Amino acid sequence: MGFRGLRFVRGLEAEYRTHLLEELFELKRIALSMGVLIWVVLAVLDSFMIQGVHLWWMLAVRLLVLIILLVCGALILQRRHFHLLQPLSLLCILALGIGTALDIGIAHRVDPHYPYEGLFLVSMAAYFLVGLRLTEAVICASLVLLVYVLVEIWAGLPPARLLNNLLLLVVGNLMGAVGCYLLEYKSREHFLVSNLLQLLADHDSLTGLHNRRSFNRHFERIWRQAQRNGQSLALLLCDIDHFKAYNDRYGHQAGDRALQQVGALIEQAARRPLDMAVRLGGEEFGLLLFDINAEEALLRAESLRQSVTEAAIEHLASDTAQVLSLSIGVAAITPGSGQELSHLYAHADRALYEAKAFGRDRVAS
Ligand code: GH3
Ligand code: MG
Ligand code: MG
Repeated sequence: MGFRGLRFVRGLEAEYRTHLLEELFELKRIALSMGVLIWVVLAVLDSFMIQGVHLWWMLAVRLLVLIILLVCGALILQRRHFHLLQPLSLLCILALGIGTALDIGIAHRVDPHYPYEGLFLVSMAAYFLVGLRLTEAVICASLVLLVYVLVEIWAGLPPARLLNNLLLLVVGNLMGAVGCYLLEYKSREHFLVSNLLQLLADHDSLTGLHNRRSFNRHFERIWRQAQRNGQSLALLLCDIDHFKAYNDRYGHQAGDRALQQVGALIEQAARRPLDMAVRLGGEEFGLLLFDINAEEALLRAESLRQSVTEAAIEHLASDTAQVLSLSIGVAAITPGSGQELSHLYAHADRALYEAKAFGRDRVAS
């Protein structure tokens, strides 16, 4: 699972970007407030260094950029237009960079000693502060440098000075880009590892099905959704028959393989996106089916039971059949208010007990 060129495969890349926007929102907020503050302080400093009509032009540029920052900032802080967060951040940093370049150019027409280092700050902010990805930061910084060169040519800065300034800015940008690359690489690595850990924490390692913890979380969410929409749910509790005898006869490893086979069949039965298969523990599995009535749930349970029989996993130590078989308890319900989630569970458990008591390898409800 690599990410050459700082890019995951498509679906994961979209997930990573959304995660990044969530994670870096606070950073954007702080950077924005700092940016506005520094911008205003610099405007005050300008009025000490430059006089006359040039100052007015510089202040006009500062005002324009300030307006862009405030409008974009308000939109960013609202968080309502989530897909606009990144373009707005780009716009802010571009406005700051181009505004700074223009101000330096205007100042250099009257005072060649006006500091150009402000551009450094903007580049560093692009690389490290606003949560841009490397490509975005590099494009932004290059555009700003280009505007800077054009403006200095217009201002008539001596070429030797311009070259000197440019050299420092380019080296600074290279350092920023390398730092930004390393940060993004680490951030992507961290994203993969935490996704993997989440996957391991939510799934049973033998069968790959969801574990009880993740199932409970999903169950509650689905329950609320069914409650809101007045849709029904069904819970199938499945227990492999005489599994202890299977282990005793064929060995623990064969037992593990059988659990994997049965697990795969239960997973196949969870066909729709909101259905979920779970290994509840040992040789007990659950299948939650969404938006399904009692009769359909019974049919689905029956075909699951058959599919396990048809897998023909030999079990000569079973009192029930010559092959591995499944007992299934079915409960279906339309969630109302109150404690009905536990009712569904209790109902399915009772039904499973009946399926066992009436001879196993059967479905009861
Ligand atoms: P019943 O028909 O009444 O369900 O009887 P049973 O033998 O299936 O049920 P019981 O609860 O007595 O035994 C379950 C067995 O499942 C005991 C245990 O060794 C086995 N088991 C639980 N987890 C695993 C596992 O991860 N791998 C293997 N191979 N066996 C397991
Ligand atoms: Mg059991
Ligand atoms: Mg059993």
